[in-house]
Formats: sequence, structure tokens, C-alpha cells
Amino acid sequence: MKFSQLQVLLTFSTVFFINTVSAGFFNPRSQGLQITKACTRSLTAVAKFCTTADTAKCVCKNIDYAGSYIYCILDHADNETAKKQSIAIVDKLCPAYGFDEAKFNAIYENATSYLVNTSTIAKFNKTKIISYPVYYSVPIYDTYYEVMQNFFNSYHLSFYYGGALTAFFPVIFLFGGILHWFSVFFPQKTSSIRGMLQKSKIVRLTQKHVTIPSLFNGSHAAPAPVTGGHYPTRLHSIFMGMWSFAWLILQCTDYRDHVPGNPYLPTKTEYLTRLIADRTGIIATFLIPLVFVLSGRNSLFIIWTGWKQSTFYAYHKLVARACVLGSLVHCIMYVVFTILDGSYTTYKVEAFWKWGIVAVIVSWVIFFQALPKLRTQHYEIFYAFHFILALFFLIGTWIHLKERSFNVYVYIVVGFWGLDRLLRCVRMLYFGVKTAKVTAVHDEVLRISIPRRKNWPVYPGAYGYVYFMRPNLFWQSHPFSIVGSEDGQHLNFYVKAKTGATGAMLEYAKSQKGNTAEVKVMFEGPYGSQHTLDHYDDLLFFSSGNGIPGVYPYLMNVLKTPQNQARTIKLYWIIQRMETVDWFKDELLALQNYSNVETIVYVTRDSPASSVDLPFKETAEKGESTVDEVTNSVDVSEQSSTETLTNVEFRYERPDVEELCRSELTNVGASDVAVVSCGHGAICDTLRRTVADISGIKTSGRLDYIEEFQAW
Ligand SMILES: Cc1cc2nc3c(=O)[nH]c(=O)nc-3n(C[C@H](O)[C@H](O)[C@H](O)COP(=O)(O)OP(=O)(O)OC[C@H]3O[C@@H](n4cnc5c(N)ncnc54)[C@H](O)[C@@H]3O)c2cc1C
Repeated sequence: MKFSQLQVLLTFSTVFFINTVSAGFFNPRSQGLQITKACTRSLTAVAKFCTTADTAKCVCKNIDYAGSYIYCILDHADNETAKKQSIAIVDKLCPAYGFDEAKFNAIYENATSYLVNTSTIAKFNKTKIISYPVYYSVPIYDTYYEVMQNFFNSYHLSFYYGGALTAFFPVIFLFGGILHWFSVFFPQKTSSIRGMLQKSKIVRLTQKHVTIPSLFNGSHAAPAPVTGGHYPTRLHSIFMGMWSFAWLILQCTDYRDHVPGNPYLPTKTEYLTRLIADRTGIIATFLIPLVFVLSGRNSLFIIWTGWKQSTFYAYHKLVARACVLGSLVHCIMYVVFTILDGSYTTYKVEAFWKWGIVAVIVSWVIFFQALPKLRTQHYEIFYAFHFILALFFLIGTWIHLKERSFNVYVYIVVGFWGLDRLLRCVRMLYFGVKTAKVTAVHDEVLRISIPRRKNWPVYPGAYGYVYFMRPNLFWQSHPFSIVGSEDGQHLNFYVKAKTGATGAMLEYAKSQKGNTAEVKVMFEGPYGSQHTLDHYDDLLFFSSGNGIPGVYPYLMNVLKTPQNQARTIKLYWIIQRMETVDWFKDELLALQNYSNVETIVYVTRDSPASSVDLPFKETAEKGESTVDEVTNSVDVSEQSSTETLTNVEFRYERPDVEELCRSELTNVGASDVAVVSCGHGAICDTLRRTVADISGIKTSGRLDYIEEFQAW
């Protein structure tokens, strides 16, 4: 069994273990627990056996109390299980006293001959310590037992509900993974099954309305206009909706009736606030491990399902928000409850109470700092704080849960989180520190070329995180799609410079001779899974700007197989300026060898006349480095791109992406076709909508939409 398979197995078993075993482990609904608690109450209400200091362990040392107590227990433990549970509880309380069944029976036998009914004693003072066994109060026992039953029923169910909510997503992932691996191991079979299914109207409509489009047809790849977030696809939205609905219902359901007039939880408000406090707290605790598992770069669910990291981040955000909201309700309800029952001043000074509040406050700070608009403003600052705050949250939660032995959940988190971080380090160390050539290939694009170890895996769909070992940047890691160099010796990245690390690297490269800087880097990867494209008749690749590295490796991988060289393949690349072509010229030239590949480049802001081959125009004009220097450094041909790239059709206009995609898909008729995209969010969203729409009318042949673009 491979290491990765073992990891997947371990993850699934751990999650199911947490869910099923912990519900049994924390088993407050046990009859034994309820009997022992009711016996304690019904005895302490009628007599006193020990000093206040000794009360908690009175049963261990005081034979009169032990006799009264065990009599009460055996009077009610009407089955073997309840009896065993009760003995175990007493034994746990008094580990040095050897409470077992024989001792229980002996104490019971001894006590029955001496039991006294305190109500028959004139002027009996129940606050004075006595030295004989007594009968418990039956009415108090009955009331308390009923209260306990109702209370613990809800309490206990909280564990099962927490377990069910935690298991929900792994179950979905389990099925997602089965489908994924079936298509990996049996691509031909998958293709023919999918082709067959496409004939069914229900399947076509499901593709059109459920599996391909995003929720409300909103921005999936591009940030949404108001919130800045990303709408999940409808299929994932359905899973998320079902889970959210279940989460809400399970917070509010199965609370048994209040027992009126009981002295322990006397009012309905007290009773309900306590139950809600426990329910929301327990469910939130269950969700914490899931929140962390879903956030990992090395999440084993990603390997299993082959889904994108961005999909898992969407799940992570949903579960985390539910957890944060649940914790707040838990906190408010406990404050209200303790105020009502008068214990607030006692609790508020306790460490577990204070740290619980710290954890809730920190979780809300995390909630706000992770809102899309704030997150994307300064992503790396967000990321560093997110990490530190999550650590604080865990510490607070650990101290809060320690008192009640629930901190096993925190250990699980530490295990998963630690493993993810460890694997990240292992990946980086395995790659080692390398000297990268960082070249400013034009005024806003960098080419990063890192020497690669021979057996280091490069595959289509792979991306990884680059750490620039510069004093101001080493703590950041930025994801880029990997393009393997032709000679197999380098990993190349084509990076659009933004305002953060990439912008700083561009400036640095520009300041160096030949616009090329030699920079020590570390690299963490490869991540991402590969889609199989071998079984499509037609392949349509759409990319724009710096999205080209996301689709190009797929294209080259398909062309490696001789049979695929008969397939119809079209590559559309939308760029603003002609000079953009220059940094990807070698790769475009490589396509010249394949007559079945049609490459069309849309240049939206240049006309044919302005298409001079002048890479990195701006710097050259400023005279900071000569055109020759730049040209040599990036190895660009002296001829103009349009002349050299005879295999490429240049169109100087802004394409109507929807129209383009529609006409392409109309032309393919009954063949199996995949549309693969990577580029600007808005373009990807248009393609998604269009493919979804057409999949509803394509009656034969398979139609799939594969989006390589990821945003979070
Ligand atoms: C899987 C994946 C593959 C990518 N491949 C490429 C590629 O091949 N070429 C390319 O030009 N760009 C690629 N990107 C985008 C690239 O990672 C960001 O543009 C880059 O990290 C911006 O760095 P910055 O500090 O200059 O950004 P800033 O100017 O600080 O921010 C610009 C934008 O980039 C996002 N961003 C910043 N840092 C990160 C980060 N560490 N992780 C995710 N998003 C971040 C911010 O949220 C913001 O929206 C890819 C992104 C992902 C998720």
C-alpha cells in the first residue's frame, strides 16, 4: 500500500473514530450515571454524613453514607448494565477503595438491617452529621431522575449530532473520491458511461442546472461584486446547504420537556438556556477538527477526491463560520444560565471560563479578518495573523475543555495540523534551496526558472508555493502553476506582478543587469491533481493573460501520446498587448510540430501595425537597459512574433467569449469534448455558464468543463 493511500485510510478512519467512539465515550445518558446522581441528591437532601470538605468523596470513607447510597442505587439499578455502570462510577471516584460487585453487595446487605427513615425521627436536624444509614427521599429521587433523564437525553444527543455533522462531509468526499479514482483507473470505461448517460435528458439537465454552473450563476472564479467572495458550484452548494440546514435543525431539536417545580433547573428558561448552551458547545467542539482538516494544503481529502484546494477552502469557511456562531451562542447561553442560577460570580473567575471567552473572541476576530475584502487586501498579512489567531483559539479551547476531559478534540486538531505543517516542511526540504533566475520579461510579467531535480514530479494541473529567500519576503509563500521546461531541467513560472511579493520581485529583477536577478528560493509542491484528457475527441483550451501556464502543460501532455495527435485541439489565448506573446513564444513555437493544434491569440489592445516585437517596452524606453540586453536575456527571436509564429492566428479584437465558445461547441456535434480554462475570473465564469447551458442541449457525446483557475 502506498504512503498516500495509507494516509487517506487513516484520515477516514480517524474521522469516523472520532464520531462514533466519542459519542459512546462521553456517555452521559447512561442509566448508571443518572441513578448515582439522583441518589446523591436524594440523600444529601435528607441527611448529612460528612464534613463539607469530605462531601465529594464521602462514599469512599463513610460506611453509613456508602450503605445509604448503595441501597438507593441497587433499589433502582434494575438491570446488569445499570448496576455495572453505577459500580464503575463509584470505583472511579474511590480508586483506592476497591469498589466491586462483591463489595457493593456486602455494603448493601449490611446497611439494609440498619436503615432509618429520618422523617420518623422527631426534630431531626438534617444539617448535623449522623452516624447511621438512612433511606433516601423517594419524591426527590423521582423528580431528580426525571430531570436528569430529560437533561442528559439532550446532552447525549448533542454528541451524536456533532458526530453526524462531522461525518457528513467525509461521506460526500468518500463518494467523490470513488468516482475520481474510478475515472483515473478506468478512463475509457468512464468515458463510455458518461457518453451513454449524456443521452438521458435527466443527466443533461443535471449537468446544465446542477453540476457545472455556480450558485445563482454568480461569480465562481471572479470575486463577487459586493462581498468579494466566490460562489461555489451548485452541486457543492447543495451539499453545503444540506449541511447548514442539518446544523441549524440539530441545534434546535430534541429538547425534552421541562419538569415543572423541580429544584435543580426550576424554570423553563434556566432549563432551556442550559440545554442550548451544551448543545451548541458540544457541536462546535466536534466541528473544530473538521475546520482544521479542511484547511490543510496536504489535506488527504484533496488527494482522495482530486478536487481543488479552493473547493476545500469553501467547505472550510462554511464549517468554521458555523463553529464560530455555535461557540458564541454557547457562550451567551452559559452566561445567561449562570446569572439565572446564581453561579455566575463563582464561574467567572475560573480559568476554563476566562479562556473559553478568549477562544470565542479570537474566533470572531478570525471571522472578520477572513472576510474576502479584508483577506485579499493583504493576503500574506491575513495568512500570518490567521495562523497566530488559530493558535490562540486552540490554546483557549484546550484550557476551556481540559476541565471536562473534552480536550481530546484539541489533540486531534494538533495531530492533523501538525501533520500538515510537517508535510509542508518535508516537501520544502526535499526540494532544497535553489538559485532561481527571476526575469522581468515585460513591464508586468516575471519568468521564474528554478533548477529541478530529475525525478521531481511535474504534471499538468500541478502548482506549488514559491518562497523567495529575500529579507522582506522569506516568510511568504505564493502559489504558481508549474510549466516544466523543454529540457526537463527547470520548473518555469510565468507570473503577473501584483502589488505584493510579485511586485517587489519585479522591481528587484528590473534593478539587476539584463532584468534578471538570481534569487535563492525554496519551493513547496507539487500540489493539484491532474485531469485525464485522453478520451475526448475534441479539446478546447481557453486562457487569458497569465492563465496560459495553467492549460499549456495539459496541451503538451495530450500531444505526447501519438494517438492524440489525430484529435482536434484548439487553443485560445486572450492577451492585451502583443508583447505578452514574447514571454511564451518558445512554448507557442513548440506547438508548430502538431498540425492538429490550432492556436488563436486574441490581442485586445494592439492593432497589427503596433505589433512590434519589443519586449519590456517601458524599461527600454526609459533607457534603463537596452532592448538588446532584454532581448538576449529572455531569448526572444529578432523577428516579430507574427512572422515567427506561423502556426498562430492573431486576431486583433476583444472576443465575445460566450459566442466563441458556443460556436465551437456547436461545431463539435456528437463528439466527446472537454473545455479547459484558466485565466481571468470573468472569462472562466462566462465559459462555465456557456458550457452549462450547452450541456443541456448536447444529446450525444460527452461535454465536460474543467477549470484550472483557482481563487480563494
Ligand atoms: C493555485 C494557484 C495557481 C496560481 N498560478 C499563477 C500563475 O501561474 N501565474 C500568476 O501570475 N499567478 C498565479 N496565481 C496567482 C498568484 O498566486 C498571486 O497573484 C500571487 O500570489 C500574488 O502575490 P502578491 O503578493 O504580489 O499579491 P498581492 O498584490 O498582495 O495580492 C493580489 C491578489 O493575489 C492574492 N494572493 C496574494 N498572495 C496569495 C497567496 N499566497 N495565495 C493565494 N492568493 C494570494 C490576493 O488575495 C489578491 O487577490 C495562482 C494562484 C493560485 C491559487
